[in-house]
Amino acid sequence: APARPAAFRDPGLAAAQVAEIRRLARRPLRFMEVCGTHTVSIFRHGLRELLPPEVELISGPGCPVCVTDQADIDALVDLAGRPGVRLATFGDLVRVPGGGGSLAEARARGARVEVVYSPMDALALAEARPHETVVFAGVGFETTAPAVAATVIEADRRGLANFALWSAHKVMPPALRALLADPGLRLDGLLCPGHVSTIVGAGAWRGLAADFGIPCVVAGFEPLDVLEAIRRLVLQAVEGRAEADNAYPRAVTEAGNPRALAVMAKVFVPVAARWRGLGEIPASGLALAPAWRALDAAARFDLDVRPAPDPPGCRCGDVLRGRARPPECPHFGRRCTPARPVGPCMVSSEGACSAWYRFGAEG
Ligand code: SF4
Repeated sequence: APARPAAFRDPGLAAAQVAEIRRLARRPLRFMEVCGTHTVSIFRHGLRELLPPEVELISGPGCPVCVTDQADIDALVDLAGRPGVRLATFGDLVRVPGGGGSLAEARARGARVEVVYSPMDALALAEARPHETVVFAGVGFETTAPAVAATVIEADRRGLANFALWSAHKVMPPALRALLADPGLRLDGLLCPGHVSTIVGAGAWRGLAADFGIPCVVAGFEPLDVLEAIRRLVLQAVEGRAEADNAYPRAVTEAGNPRALAVMAKVFVPVAARWRGLGEIPASGLALAPAWRALDAAARFDLDVRPAPDPPGCRCGDVLRGRARPPECPHFGRRCTPARPVGPCMVSSEGACSAWYRFGAEG
Protein backbone atom coordinates (compact mmCIF):
# COMPACT_ATOMS: atom_id res chain seq x y z
CA ALA A 1 0.00 0.00 0.00
CA PRO A 2 1.27 3.52 -0.69
CA ALA A 3 2.83 5.17 2.33
CA ARG A 4 0.57 7.74 3.98
CA PRO A 5 1.79 11.34 3.95
CA ALA A 6 1.92 11.42 7.75
CA ALA A 7 4.74 8.92 7.55
CA PHE A 8 6.75 11.53 5.66
CA ARG A 9 6.36 14.10 8.42
CA ASP A 10 7.55 12.02 11.37
CA PRO A 11 9.50 14.43 13.64
CA GLY A 12 11.76 11.67 14.96
CA LEU A 13 12.79 10.58 11.49
CA ALA A 14 13.27 14.20 10.45
CA ALA A 15 15.56 14.79 13.44
CA ALA A 16 17.60 11.74 12.47
CA GLN A 17 17.95 12.97 8.90
CA VAL A 18 18.97 16.44 10.05
CA ALA A 19 21.56 14.92 12.40
CA GLU A 20 22.99 12.93 9.52
CA ILE A 21 23.09 16.03 7.29
CA ARG A 22 24.90 17.92 10.09
CA ARG A 23 27.39 15.08 10.48
CA LEU A 24 28.11 14.93 6.75
CA ALA A 25 28.17 18.63 5.84
CA ARG A 26 31.61 19.71 6.94
CA ARG A 27 32.07 22.44 4.34
CA PRO A 28 29.76 25.09 2.87
CA LEU A 29 27.38 23.56 0.34
CA ARG A 30 24.96 25.42 -1.86
CA PHE A 31 21.98 23.62 -3.35
CA MET A 32 19.26 24.96 -5.59
CA GLU A 33 15.69 23.83 -5.14
CA VAL A 34 14.58 24.14 -8.74
CA CYS A 35 10.86 23.91 -8.16
CA GLY A 36 8.61 26.54 -6.62
CA THR A 37 6.59 23.88 -4.81
CA HIS A 38 9.80 22.81 -3.06
CA THR A 39 10.47 26.42 -2.08
CA VAL A 40 7.06 26.62 -0.46
CA SER A 41 7.42 23.23 1.26
CA ILE A 42 10.86 24.18 2.62
CA PHE A 43 9.46 27.38 4.12
CA ARG A 44 6.18 25.91 5.31
CA HIS A 45 7.94 23.18 7.29
CA GLY A 46 10.76 25.41 8.51
CA LEU A 47 13.38 23.17 6.92
CA ARG A 48 15.89 25.96 6.36
CA GLU A 49 16.07 26.55 10.11
CA LEU A 50 16.70 22.86 10.74
CA LEU A 51 19.67 22.65 8.41
CA PRO A 52 23.22 23.35 9.58
CA PRO A 53 24.72 26.71 8.55
CA GLU A 54 26.96 24.90 6.06
CA VAL A 55 23.95 23.99 3.89
CA GLU A 56 22.47 26.87 1.94
CA LEU A 57 19.33 26.49 -0.16
CA ILE A 58 18.61 28.89 -2.98
CA SER A 59 15.52 29.06 -5.15
CA GLY A 60 15.56 28.40 -8.86
CA PRO A 61 13.52 28.96 -12.01
CA GLY A 62 10.78 26.39 -11.33
CA CYS A 63 7.84 28.75 -10.95
CA PRO A 64 5.98 28.82 -14.28
CA VAL A 65 4.32 32.20 -13.83
CA CYS A 66 7.60 33.76 -12.65
CA VAL A 67 9.59 32.68 -15.72
CA THR A 68 6.91 33.81 -18.16
CA ASP A 69 8.52 36.61 -20.09
CA GLN A 70 7.29 40.16 -19.93
CA ALA A 71 6.79 40.02 -23.72
CA ASP A 72 4.29 37.16 -23.30
CA ILE A 73 2.32 39.13 -20.71
CA ASP A 74 2.23 42.15 -23.03
CA ALA A 75 1.08 39.97 -25.95
CA LEU A 76 -1.69 38.50 -23.81
CA VAL A 77 -2.85 41.95 -22.70
CA ASP A 78 -2.95 42.94 -26.38
CA LEU A 79 -4.87 39.77 -27.28
CA ALA A 80 -7.42 40.20 -24.48
CA GLY A 81 -8.26 43.66 -25.79
CA ARG A 82 -8.98 42.52 -29.34
CA PRO A 83 -12.61 42.59 -30.49
CA GLY A 84 -14.30 39.22 -30.25
CA VAL A 85 -11.53 37.65 -28.15
CA ARG A 86 -11.92 36.25 -24.65
CA LEU A 87 -8.72 35.26 -22.90
CA ALA A 88 -8.81 32.38 -20.44
CA THR A 89 -5.96 31.57 -18.10
CA PHE A 90 -4.95 30.50 -14.62
CA GLY A 91 -5.41 33.01 -11.80
CA ASP A 92 -1.80 33.84 -10.96
CA LEU A 93 -0.97 34.98 -14.46
CA VAL A 94 -3.71 37.59 -14.39
CA ARG A 95 -1.89 39.60 -11.69
CA VAL A 96 1.57 39.64 -13.28
CA PRO A 97 2.44 43.22 -14.19
CA GLY A 98 3.42 43.65 -17.83
CA GLY A 99 4.87 46.72 -19.52
CA GLY A 100 1.33 47.99 -20.14
CA GLY A 101 -0.13 46.71 -16.87
CA SER A 102 -1.47 43.31 -15.89
CA LEU A 103 -4.30 41.29 -17.39
CA ALA A 104 -6.35 42.17 -14.30
CA GLU A 105 -5.87 45.85 -15.09
CA ALA A 106 -6.74 45.23 -18.72
CA ARG A 107 -9.92 43.49 -17.54
CA ALA A 108 -10.78 46.54 -15.43
CA ARG A 109 -10.46 48.60 -18.63
CA GLY A 110 -12.92 46.32 -20.41
CA ALA A 111 -10.78 43.51 -21.84
CA ARG A 112 -12.34 40.05 -21.62
CA VAL A 113 -10.19 38.00 -19.26
CA GLU A 114 -11.49 34.86 -17.62
CA VAL A 115 -9.81 32.88 -14.83
CA VAL A 116 -10.18 29.15 -15.32
CA TYR A 117 -9.06 26.21 -13.21
CA SER A 118 -8.29 23.81 -16.04
CA PRO A 119 -7.76 24.05 -19.80
CA MET A 120 -10.98 22.06 -20.26
CA ASP A 121 -12.84 24.95 -18.60
CA ALA A 122 -11.59 27.14 -21.44
CA LEU A 123 -12.98 24.64 -23.91
CA ALA A 124 -16.36 24.77 -22.18
CA LEU A 125 -16.19 28.55 -22.38
CA ALA A 126 -15.61 28.35 -26.14
CA GLU A 127 -18.61 26.05 -26.51
CA ALA A 128 -20.79 28.39 -24.47
CA ARG A 129 -19.68 31.47 -26.44
CA PRO A 130 -19.69 30.53 -30.13
CA HIS A 131 -19.53 34.18 -31.24
CA GLU A 132 -16.23 34.80 -29.47
CA THR A 133 -12.78 33.30 -29.91
CA VAL A 134 -11.61 31.88 -26.62
CA VAL A 135 -7.83 31.91 -26.33
CA PHE A 136 -6.35 29.81 -23.57
CA ALA A 137 -3.01 31.12 -22.32
CA GLY A 138 -1.04 27.97 -21.64
CA VAL A 139 1.68 28.49 -19.07
CA GLY A 140 3.55 25.79 -17.22
CA PHE A 141 6.14 23.06 -17.44
CA GLU A 142 5.91 19.37 -18.27
CA THR A 143 3.40 19.02 -15.45
CA THR A 144 0.69 21.09 -17.13
CA ALA A 145 1.60 20.75 -20.81
CA PRO A 146 0.12 17.21 -21.21
CA ALA A 147 -3.34 18.34 -20.02
CA VAL A 148 -3.21 21.31 -22.38
CA ALA A 149 -2.12 19.05 -25.24
CA ALA A 150 -5.08 16.77 -24.50
CA THR A 151 -7.37 19.83 -24.55
CA VAL A 152 -6.10 20.81 -28.00
CA ILE A 153 -6.83 17.30 -29.27
CA GLU A 154 -10.30 17.48 -27.74
CA ALA A 155 -10.99 20.92 -29.27
CA ASP A 156 -10.08 19.48 -32.66
CA ARG A 157 -12.26 16.42 -32.08
CA ARG A 158 -15.23 18.63 -31.20
CA GLY A 159 -14.53 20.87 -34.19
CA LEU A 160 -14.35 23.96 -31.98
CA ALA A 161 -13.15 26.55 -34.46
CA ASN A 162 -13.47 29.36 -31.88
CA PHE A 163 -10.88 27.89 -29.50
CA ALA A 164 -7.17 28.68 -29.72
CA LEU A 165 -4.08 28.16 -27.59
CA TRP A 166 -1.38 30.70 -26.84
CA SER A 167 1.43 28.44 -25.78
CA ALA A 168 3.99 29.85 -23.38
CA HIS A 169 4.75 26.33 -22.12
CA LYS A 170 8.30 25.53 -21.21
CA VAL A 171 10.37 22.46 -20.52
CA MET A 172 12.80 22.27 -17.68
CA PRO A 173 15.95 20.33 -18.72
CA PRO A 174 17.20 22.89 -21.31
CA ALA A 175 16.64 25.73 -18.83
CA LEU A 176 18.70 23.99 -16.18
CA ARG A 177 21.46 23.47 -18.73
CA ALA A 178 21.43 27.19 -19.51
CA LEU A 179 21.43 28.00 -15.81
CA LEU A 180 24.36 25.72 -15.02
CA ALA A 181 26.36 27.17 -17.91
CA ASP A 182 26.39 30.49 -16.00
CA PRO A 183 29.99 30.78 -14.70
CA GLY A 184 28.82 33.16 -11.97
CA LEU A 185 26.62 30.52 -10.34
CA ARG A 186 28.33 28.34 -7.77
CA LEU A 187 26.22 25.31 -6.97
CA ASP A 188 26.96 21.99 -5.30
CA GLY A 189 23.76 20.23 -6.27
CA LEU A 190 20.26 20.43 -7.66
CA LEU A 191 17.13 19.40 -5.84
CA CYS A 192 15.30 18.31 -8.98
CA PRO A 193 11.58 18.98 -9.39
CA GLY A 194 9.33 16.16 -8.25
CA HIS A 195 6.27 16.94 -10.34
CA VAL A 196 8.17 17.56 -13.57
CA SER A 197 10.09 14.34 -12.94
CA THR A 198 6.88 12.31 -12.75
CA ILE A 199 6.49 13.21 -16.44
CA VAL A 200 10.07 13.35 -17.77
CA GLY A 201 11.46 10.63 -15.50
CA ALA A 202 14.48 10.63 -13.21
CA GLY A 203 16.58 9.69 -16.22
CA ALA A 204 16.10 13.17 -17.65
CA TRP A 205 18.69 14.54 -15.23
CA ARG A 206 21.46 12.03 -15.95
CA GLY A 207 23.00 14.04 -18.79
CA LEU A 208 22.92 17.17 -16.65
CA ALA A 209 24.72 15.49 -13.76
CA ALA A 210 27.36 14.05 -16.09
CA ASP A 211 27.90 17.12 -18.29
CA PHE A 212 28.11 19.65 -15.47
CA GLY A 213 29.55 17.40 -12.78
CA ILE A 214 26.73 18.28 -10.43
CA PRO A 215 24.74 16.01 -8.10
CA CYS A 216 21.06 15.92 -9.08
CA VAL A 217 18.49 14.37 -6.74
CA VAL A 218 14.76 14.18 -7.48
CA ALA A 219 12.76 15.09 -4.39
CA GLY A 220 9.17 14.73 -3.25
CA PHE A 221 7.38 17.45 -1.32
CA GLU A 222 6.88 16.15 2.21
CA PRO A 223 9.46 17.27 4.80
CA LEU A 224 11.14 13.86 4.94
CA ASP A 225 11.26 13.72 1.13
CA VAL A 226 13.08 17.04 0.97
CA LEU A 227 15.44 16.20 3.84
CA GLU A 228 16.27 12.82 2.34
CA ALA A 229 17.08 14.43 -1.01
CA ILE A 230 19.28 17.01 0.74
CA ARG A 231 21.02 14.23 2.68
CA ARG A 232 21.75 12.45 -0.61
CA LEU A 233 23.00 15.67 -2.20
CA VAL A 234 25.32 16.32 0.75
CA LEU A 235 26.59 12.76 0.61
CA GLN A 236 27.35 12.98 -3.10
CA ALA A 237 29.02 16.35 -2.70
CA VAL A 238 31.32 15.26 0.15
CA GLU A 239 32.16 12.01 -1.63
CA GLY A 240 32.94 13.91 -4.84
CA ARG A 241 30.23 12.16 -6.87
CA ALA A 242 27.94 13.82 -9.42
CA GLU A 243 25.06 11.51 -10.21
CA ALA A 244 21.35 11.67 -10.92
CA ASP A 245 19.47 10.02 -8.09
CA ASN A 246 15.79 9.51 -7.40
CA ALA A 247 14.68 10.14 -3.82
CA TYR A 248 11.01 10.16 -4.82
CA PRO A 249 10.54 6.65 -6.22
CA ARG A 250 6.95 6.34 -5.01
CA ALA A 251 5.95 8.85 -7.72
CA VAL A 252 8.85 9.06 -10.16
CA THR A 253 10.12 6.32 -12.43
CA GLU A 254 13.28 6.29 -14.51
CA ALA A 255 11.43 6.85 -17.81
CA GLY A 256 8.59 9.06 -16.57
CA ASN A 257 5.06 8.93 -17.88
CA PRO A 258 5.06 7.61 -21.47
CA ARG A 259 1.40 8.52 -22.12
CA ALA A 260 1.89 12.12 -21.04
CA LEU A 261 5.10 12.35 -23.05
CA ALA A 262 3.34 10.90 -26.10
CA VAL A 263 0.44 13.37 -25.97
CA MET A 264 2.91 16.25 -25.62
CA ALA A 265 4.96 14.99 -28.56
CA LYS A 266 1.81 14.69 -30.66
CA VAL A 267 0.73 18.28 -30.12
CA PHE A 268 3.87 20.32 -29.39
CA VAL A 269 7.24 20.88 -30.97
CA PRO A 270 10.25 22.28 -29.12
CA VAL A 271 11.10 25.89 -29.94
CA ALA A 272 13.41 28.54 -28.55
CA ALA A 273 11.68 30.38 -25.71
CA ARG A 274 12.41 33.45 -23.66
CA TRP A 275 12.59 32.93 -19.91
CA ARG A 276 12.49 35.80 -17.49
CA GLY A 277 15.97 36.10 -16.04
CA LEU A 278 17.49 33.46 -18.29
CA GLY A 279 16.83 34.99 -21.70
CA GLU A 280 16.22 32.96 -24.81
CA ILE A 281 17.02 29.26 -24.48
CA PRO A 282 17.00 26.93 -27.49
CA ALA A 283 14.42 24.13 -27.47
CA SER A 284 13.09 25.17 -24.06
CA GLY A 285 9.58 26.14 -25.16
CA LEU A 286 6.64 24.25 -26.60
CA ALA A 287 4.82 25.57 -29.65
CA LEU A 288 1.90 23.88 -31.36
CA ALA A 289 3.08 21.53 -34.11
CA PRO A 290 2.14 22.58 -37.70
CA ALA A 291 -0.69 20.03 -37.78
CA TRP A 292 -2.50 22.08 -35.11
CA ARG A 293 -1.95 25.46 -36.73
CA ALA A 294 -5.69 26.14 -36.94
CA LEU A 295 -5.80 26.11 -33.13
CA ASP A 296 -2.66 28.19 -32.67
CA ALA A 297 -3.33 31.73 -31.43
CA ALA A 298 0.22 32.71 -32.41
CA ALA A 299 -0.60 31.83 -36.04
CA ARG A 300 -4.13 33.16 -36.00
CA PHE A 301 -3.44 36.61 -34.55
CA ASP A 302 -0.86 39.05 -35.75
CA LEU A 303 0.83 39.88 -32.45
CA ASP A 304 3.89 41.99 -31.94
CA VAL A 305 5.87 39.98 -29.39
CA ARG A 306 9.06 41.89 -28.72
CA PRO A 307 11.42 41.68 -25.76
CA ALA A 308 10.31 43.98 -22.98
CA PRO A 309 12.20 45.16 -19.91
CA ASP A 310 11.36 43.81 -16.46
CA PRO A 311 9.59 46.13 -14.01
CA PRO A 312 12.05 48.85 -12.91
CA GLY A 313 14.19 47.73 -9.99
CA CYS A 314 12.68 44.23 -9.86
CA ARG A 315 15.36 41.56 -9.35
CA CYS A 316 13.08 38.66 -10.18
CA GLY A 317 15.42 37.62 -13.01
CA ASP A 318 18.36 37.41 -10.59
CA VAL A 319 16.23 35.55 -8.06
CA LEU A 320 15.22 33.00 -10.70
CA ARG A 321 18.80 32.18 -11.61
CA GLY A 322 20.06 31.98 -8.07
CA ARG A 323 22.01 35.25 -8.19
CA ALA A 324 20.03 37.07 -5.54
CA ARG A 325 17.80 36.19 -2.63
CA PRO A 326 14.49 38.05 -2.46
CA PRO A 327 15.45 40.28 0.51
CA GLU A 328 18.33 41.62 -1.59
CA CYS A 329 15.76 43.34 -3.81
CA PRO A 330 15.21 46.93 -2.65
CA HIS A 331 11.46 46.59 -3.25
CA PHE A 332 11.03 43.41 -1.19
CA GLY A 333 8.43 43.92 1.53
CA ARG A 334 8.36 47.67 0.86
CA ARG A 335 6.95 48.57 -2.53
CA CYS A 336 6.49 44.89 -3.39
CA THR A 337 4.21 42.63 -1.36
CA PRO A 338 1.79 39.84 -2.36
CA ALA A 339 -1.08 42.35 -2.13
CA ARG A 340 0.75 44.83 -4.39
CA PRO A 341 3.31 42.84 -6.37
CA VAL A 342 5.88 44.64 -8.50
CA GLY A 343 7.20 41.48 -10.16
CA PRO A 344 5.95 37.96 -10.88
CA CYS A 345 8.08 36.33 -8.16
CA MET A 346 5.80 38.07 -5.66
CA VAL A 347 2.59 37.27 -7.57
CA SER A 348 2.71 33.51 -7.78
CA SER A 349 2.22 31.57 -4.57
CA GLU A 350 5.15 29.45 -5.81
CA GLY A 351 7.35 32.48 -6.40
CA ALA A 352 10.43 32.78 -4.21
CA CYS A 353 9.66 36.39 -3.21
CA SER A 354 6.12 35.45 -2.20
CA ALA A 355 7.36 32.45 -0.18
CA TRP A 356 10.04 34.50 1.60
CA TYR A 357 7.49 37.22 2.38
CA ARG A 358 4.65 34.97 3.53
CA PHE A 359 6.81 32.83 5.76
CA GLY A 360 8.59 35.82 7.28
CA ALA A 361 12.12 34.87 6.26
CA GLU A 362 14.61 37.55 7.16
CA GLY A 363 17.39 36.37 4.85
FE1 SF4 B 1 10.69 41.64 -8.10
FE2 SF4 B 1 9.18 42.11 -5.95
FE3 SF4 B 1 10.79 40.02 -5.95
FE4 SF4 B 1 11.79 42.50 -5.84
S1 SF4 B 1 10.56 41.51 -4.27
S2 SF4 B 1 12.52 40.78 -7.11
S3 SF4 B 1 10.31 43.63 -7.11
S4 SF4 B 1 9.03 40.33 -7.31
